[in-house]
Amino acid sequence: MQQSNICEDNMLKSGYVLVDVELLSEALSQQTKCKYCECDSLSIEEDMKKRKGLATSLVIVCAVCGKEGTFQTSKVTPSGYEVNKDSYMGYAVLENVTLLVDYCVP
Ligand SMILES: [Zn+2]
Repeated sequence: MQQSNICEDNMLKSGYVLVDVELLSEALSQQTKCKYCECDSLSIEEDMKKRKGLATSLVIVCAVCGKEGTFQTSKVTPSGYEVNKDSYMGYAVLENVTLLVDYCVP
């Protein structure tokens, strides 16, 4: 994961965290207005057909005018979604640690 994006005030501007889509949607509806009709009826939904591993596509939906905006939850690299690549590398490290422990502990 990208630790280099931590600012002096400990606010992270990039990287991955687990977020409950319902809580994200609630926060959005309380703090953001639709740029088309300026109402405060926005919500976030996951497009389950676009989920790949830990990455997915989220849709911001306005309940009043029906406008939608979509964004990916991970950057895309030539080898696929960045979050999936990073989590696989973490898994590979853990697997090697487990093999080492199995080898060293009788
Ligand atoms: Zn709207």
